[in-house]
Amino acid sequence: MTNIKPDTEKNNFIRTIIKDDLANNKHERIVTRFPPEPNGFLHIGHVKSICLNFGLAQEFQGLCNLRFDDTNPTAEKQDFVDSIKKDVQWLGFDWAGDVRYASNYFDQLYEWAVKLIKKGVAYVDLQTPEEIRENRGGFGKPSVPSPQREASIEENLARFDDMKNGKYKEGEAVLRAKIDMNHPNMNMRDPVIYRVMHAHHHQTGDKWCIYPMYDYAHPLSDAIEGITHSVCTLEFEDHRPFYDWVVEQVGFEIPPRQYEFSRLNIDHTLTSKRKLKRLVEMGVVSGWDDPRMPTIAGMRRRGYTPEGLRDFCERIGVSKADGVVDFRQLEFSVRNSLEDSTARGMAVLRPLKVTITNFDEAISQVETLKKPTVATKVKDGVLWLSQPKHPSLDLGHRDIPFTKTIYIDQSDFELNPPEGYKRLSPDNREIRLRNSYILKVEEFKTDDNGDVIELIATIDPKTLGNNPEGRKVKGVIHWVSADLGVPSAVYTFEHLLFEDDELTDEHIAKIKANHPDADDDTLWVLTHYNPNSQTVYDAVVEPSLVAQVGERFQFERESYFILDSIQDNKPVFYQIVGLKDGFKPA
Ligand code: ATP
Ligand code: MG
Repeated sequence: MTNIKPDTEKNNFIRTIIKDDLANNKHERIVTRFPPEPNGFLHIGHVKSICLNFGLAQEFQGLCNLRFDDTNPTAEKQDFVDSIKKDVQWLGFDWAGDVRYASNYFDQLYEWAVKLIKKGVAYVDLQTPEEIRENRGGFGKPSVPSPQREASIEENLARFDDMKNGKYKEGEAVLRAKIDMNHPNMNMRDPVIYRVMHAHHHQTGDKWCIYPMYDYAHPLSDAIEGITHSVCTLEFEDHRPFYDWVVEQVGFEIPPRQYEFSRLNIDHTLTSKRKLKRLVEMGVVSGWDDPRMPTIAGMRRRGYTPEGLRDFCERIGVSKADGVVDFRQLEFSVRNSLEDSTARGMAVLRPLKVTITNFDEAISQVETLKKPTVATKVKDGVLWLSQPKHPSLDLGHRDIPFTKTIYIDQSDFELNPPEGYKRLSPDNREIRLRNSYILKVEEFKTDDNGDVIELIATIDPKTLGNNPEGRKVKGVIHWVSADLGVPSAVYTFEHLLFEDDELTDEHIAKIKANHPDADDDTLWVLTHYNPNSQTVYDAVVEPSLVAQVGERFQFERESYFILDSIQDNKPVFYQIVGLKDGFKPA
């Protein structure tokens, strides 16, 4: 498999900006930050932002801070703080110094708000939230200045003090920057910078009943931390003028600069914490770490590797162009990272019993085969076959038991094979058992429905490690010993969600009719959920696959899988990604 990296210069314009800044001595060292709000679990979109911010710092020997933007205490929780820290580390990154919180700066941010009032560029507005929204104007409607807009500095200082001291209820007063009520950019029409919120905060407890707005706290937190390149997604482009305004008003000599890139979108994949949360709350998934979830926790559980995710982010690049990335691109990177690290093994997902009538006679001849690399030993009626764990890497050997009764996959014997079918059928009775003998089907048994339930077969004793004499046998299939294979639950997955264009009008109408009271998000989830997104098989796997929980394997001819857990003595495997699919990567 080719492993050529995309042109890393061309596919990341921020890299070019940083190179220039360093070359021009604008900064001695770059400092970036990743600023999540701890109101949910991180998802694949955040992975892009993490790889970008931490990756740039790594590449240019700079620093990257992890800062929780915790200005909205009602939505935030310590659990989310903990999960985010774990996710960043799992991806392979470490932040500079301690974890930071915007709330670390609440005292300073408050002092600066007072400073802005004293400069005459901030005022307390006593209008209701509706009035504020209404009077901001826009869409052809002129704006109306607040009755408090021209209040004196003393009045504003007193009112802001009252806000801080809890004399206002929520929605009764806000502090606004005094900029321009007719500015063409709505974000510059006197944006709110502080609001009253009588809420307990996970970091600051009950110290505050006013909280800074994100748009005010963010640029100043960047400035305090000496962030040089504040990289964020395009929806903040219109907020940049205010970002620059605040930093300038407070008076920083070397202001941080904001750069925007386009959000990551992937087909069949949600990149909105709000909707992901809804999936969890509605119970259509088992939790934030359900293996079908595009959260970092879900992808980790699914068996995706940090290397695969980082490679994906490098390949998709960073630009200002909106677009939707092909899901197979993500799978490509994950698969690529597994190819040269995972042990191989055989697992039969849909077992069909095969009885080998000449088994004892055949294995009594093993000694005479002179193929020590294939046959290791015969003991208690079992032939133990030693095979490498990986075709080219030095991962050691595994012992595969071969017994009189084995399982093959039901799909490898077809009564009515389609054209070009190369496996077993009434007309094509011979096949190579992978790592073992040539098998010949002598007879097949069917049940009352005509379904095949057992094959009676023989093996060619001379074909262990050798080609058969005088004939060509095409096709190789995998198998597992029926006696010594391990019964396992094997999960395979499809997309968790349908795309809009995969939904029929009838489907949508039916769901709406069945859920007349559902809100928009709930209806969205119900219509887009793929009920076949998970299939569980009563499979049988070769003993070497029962290893450490968390170990990844390639099940030959199937997919990559991770051993998720062992429940009631039964291993549980999750499909990570299929084998090659012909996708051409970026
Ligand atoms: P969501 O809409 O899912 O709640 P968010 O942007 O509100 O996401 P934050 O916690 O504020 O989530 O995001 C932290 C950082 O991750 C921000 O800098 C944000 O721009 C970035 N980010 C979030 N979603 C994406 C995405 N889909 N692609 C790239 N970066 C993203
Ligand atoms: Mg956000």
